[in-house]
Amino acid sequence: MTRRIVAMLAVGLLVALTATMSSAAVEDPSGDVTPAEFGAMSAAQRGALYGSLRPTYIERLDNAMVMGRAFYVDDETIYLVNRGGQQSTVAIADISPFSLFIARTALMVDRNVYTSLEMLRRKLNIPEGDHDQAKGELDKILKSRPDLADVIEAIVDDPSDAIVHPDMGWIIREFADRSLALVEDRINDEVRLIESDHFIIITTWPKANDKGLKRSCEKLYDELIDQFKLDRGDVVWAGKLPVLCFWDETEFADFVVATMPMPPGKKAIDTDKLSKAGGFCMSYGGLTCVVLNRVQYDGASAAQARQWFYEVLTHETVHAFNKLYTSSVSLPDWLNEGIAEYMAGTLVTGSYASARWLRATRTVIARDINVNYNFEKFGGKLVDYGVCQSFVRYMVSSRSRRENFVEFYSLLKSGVSQEDAMQQAFGWTLDEFQRRWRAAAK
Ligand SMILES: [Zn+2]
Repeated sequence: MTRRIVAMLAVGLLVALTATMSSAAVEDPSGDVTPAEFGAMSAAQRGALYGSLRPTYIERLDNAMVMGRAFYVDDETIYLVNRGGQQSTVAIADISPFSLFIARTALMVDRNVYTSLEMLRRKLNIPEGDHDQAKGELDKILKSRPDLADVIEAIVDDPSDAIVHPDMGWIIREFADRSLALVEDRINDEVRLIESDHFIIITTWPKANDKGLKRSCEKLYDELIDQFKLDRGDVVWAGKLPVLCFWDETEFADFVVATMPMPPGKKAIDTDKLSKAGGFCMSYGGLTCVVLNRVQYDGASAAQARQWFYEVLTHETVHAFNKLYTSSVSLPDWLNEGIAEYMAGTLVTGSYASARWLRATRTVIARDINVNYNFEKFGGKLVDYGVCQSFVRYMVSSRSRRENFVEFYSLLKSGVSQEDAMQQAFGWTLDEFQRRWRAAAK
């Protein structure tokens, strides 16, 4: 389970990105129109307000949808206007933390100039983007906001460096605080929030594991920094990445059922299937987080269970990294899974992933199976996970290839197709890559 649940309502926000431009003044993110001002508005004004707002898709914890568009959010309440101009409210304590995040960011998208800058930057960073139009828009922004001249110049000079929205850190933090309160109230009152440099971990594990969890997350982060040749000072994602760790499978299922956004018309969650999942990385409406299931499973010793947990933690957190690093462009599934498996296979001693790639490679070579279909559509079987990990291992198997790999990755994250990125970074077609991999595997 990875990005399948994903992006059902992609609001198309920026989330987490390299580069740092967080010093400028931040506008009040609660909304332009206060509830008092709303009360004084005419019907026509309310209609115009409704038309100017983004759909917010707020879901209550009882899974009912709240209709209307958010125009103001304070510490306890979200204020909405419906199509007919009526006001309604919903208490933040009664809604999914994901919905709160979406309401906050929907207001922010329209209000904060950094959002427009980031969208234009992305357009300039994609070879097929309409660069003239983007530059024209940047000129317009510059006229009204001369204080942003340096930022705009930096974007035009090098559009590969993304902008971290100044508000994003605290909005993610608010998501984590709300998730903590929700678990505490409804699921397990022993839950704790612990923080490391780059992660906010919400855990129902026994307290003795706190240090280990933090250490594992940061170790993984360091390895990713090394893998992608980043500087220690680079901002890989805005704020901290929320990671929720549940000790027990019912806790995991209860949390997901209560909070998982389910847009109208989507099928209900299959809880049986869900409770068997190891965990997932979810991106929804611009928020990315990792949610991990129980540690214990039938027939496993405590040591095996713990090892399995760390394997899932690594795999899913790598997905979060792949989603967040540099831009929100998604990697091809085969590469996303291949990197996740590679990191789990190399970092977690005795992991399933560490054995899987060799077995899969041998099978494929011995039976002469064509595995190119993964480039079109990731197969999703164990052999595909193994083979795609083997692809990644081949791409990083020498110092010069490792450099090509980092370039390949960056090109993909800037929106270049996998065929072109492979050609530019390695000088190969996908078929040629496949032939070389086979020759090396024999
Ligand atoms: Zn995966």
